[in-house]
Amino acid sequence: MSAQAEFDVREHVTSIIDGEPTGARRPGLDFPIINPASEEPNGVLREADAAEVDAAVRSARQAFETGPWPRMGADQRKAIFRSMHDALHSHREELEYLDSLDTGVPITQVRAMHVERAAYNFEFFGEVLSQDSGEVYTQNPNFLTYATREPAGVGAMMAPWNAPIPLASMRVATCIAFGNTCVLKPSEYTPRSMQRMVEIFHEAGLPPGVVNLVNGRGPVTGTALVAHPEVDMVGFTGGSETGKIIMSEAGKSLKPVLLELGGKSANIIHESANMDRALDGALLGIFSSNGQQCLAGSRILVQRSIAREFIERFVERARKLRIGDPLNAATEIGPLCYENHMKRVLGYADLAREEGAKVLLGGGRPAEFERGWFVEPTAVLAKDNSARVCQEEIFGPFATFLEFHDLDEALMIANESQFGLVAYLWSQDLNVAMRATRELRAGTVWVNTPMFRELRAPFGGCKQSGIGRDGARGSLEFFTEPKTVSIPLADFPMLKMGS
Ligand code: NAD
Repeated sequence: MSAQAEFDVREHVTSIIDGEPTGARRPGLDFPIINPASEEPNGVLREADAAEVDAAVRSARQAFETGPWPRMGADQRKAIFRSMHDALHSHREELEYLDSLDTGVPITQVRAMHVERAAYNFEFFGEVLSQDSGEVYTQNPNFLTYATREPAGVGAMMAPWNAPIPLASMRVATCIAFGNTCVLKPSEYTPRSMQRMVEIFHEAGLPPGVVNLVNGRGPVTGTALVAHPEVDMVGFTGGSETGKIIMSEAGKSLKPVLLELGGKSANIIHESANMDRALDGALLGIFSSNGQQCLAGSRILVQRSIAREFIERFVERARKLRIGDPLNAATEIGPLCYENHMKRVLGYADLAREEGAKVLLGGGRPAEFERGWFVEPTAVLAKDNSARVCQEEIFGPFATFLEFHDLDEALMIANESQFGLVAYLWSQDLNVAMRATRELRAGTVWVNTPMFRELRAPFGGCKQSGIGRDGARGSLEFFTEPKTVSIPLADFPMLKMGS
């Protein structure tokens, strides 16, 4: 049933330091890479210990202090970004295959979202870096004062497993665009496309040392990287609890952090919505990528007047979702990424029952699969917003419904959350849309659309969904240091001391 491997899938994943794979020449712990659809090991990951992390950071430091990258003209750097964009495109099918293989996300969805987006990250930030200019202050007639933006140094860039190529490429592109160098630590569960991506960057002309790659578990490899004294800043995409650990570790040496964290986003279906489109959007919002998306519309708030019809139609459609091998083009729901994650998601179905929610669909493992970390598309109607299934990020194909009476109540429920990443609203009524977009506390509000990403605009979360913003201005501000220079226009009388 599965599409067979058309690509040479490397068995061993190691670090890449100074543009070269470290291979098996260093001692270290090996971990199996496991196919989530078959539960079979299909590769080996060599974990980078503190010594290997140190070598990677030193390579990035040297490339920053003496290498060509921070010193080259913007046009030259932009040309290399363009070539990285082209190289990602020309290896598109291979990278899509590896992302689907490791994550379990259906290949059709990976094709729609992953490599195209990653390539665009380099095209877009190539433009941003070439447009950057400083500020000039001429208000004081005796001085010319100007401010430039200097690269901030060596970045520790960390990425999660749910969409390795788009998310890790975002961390890398935003960091190195402005002349910085970095060490990337992707998730230990999905290292394969990351290894190829970093190799492809070098084939495209990126100088050695600008992007180094280390692999391993968070508390081992990740901690060594964040704590390293030669790291100047930390960019992290991952869970909120990990974000807190990283921020406190980085805080010990006052390293600035950019945190793109989790969410439990409200998807408000107002009675004025175009119901067909809202239905399509709600299904995509929670079931695409197997529900493993930070910006999933996982708390679906439906106005009582339309709730019965909307929920019935949602459940009917969700029941028809095709579960299966992620490499099969017909599959809509693949396996979850790793075993403990599947168990965690299933635990929320038990919890929903204990909390008195009505289980409308699913809640278990699909009976037709003997192997694979599959979870049935699940939908529950919670008793109220204080339930844990309404407050905690589940990160699986698990929709939690709540009903509301009017817009006031919908907005109150939506904002009663520790998270504030995104919010969705479906309504054809302009007044409803205008009020909701003002009052929703979230980094992004999507009206009548699921998940539209505009890279020029800020993206990030408030509350426990993050700190800082990706985007043209947000990334420039985080990854550069302003430097102010003042020069007198003529000699001026100075106070003479000791004369
Ligand atoms: P995670 O926090 O477990 O891991 C993310 C990365 O941090 C991995 O590389 C991991 O190895 C590393 N890590 C884990 N513990 C660490 C530690 N103590 N020190 C240093 N590094 C450590 O997240 P995950 O399970 O890989 O990804 C899912 C989470 O990511 C979800 O919460 C999701 O909402 C979030 N996410 C956020 C965004 C966003 O843009 N806001 C995008 C995608 C995913």
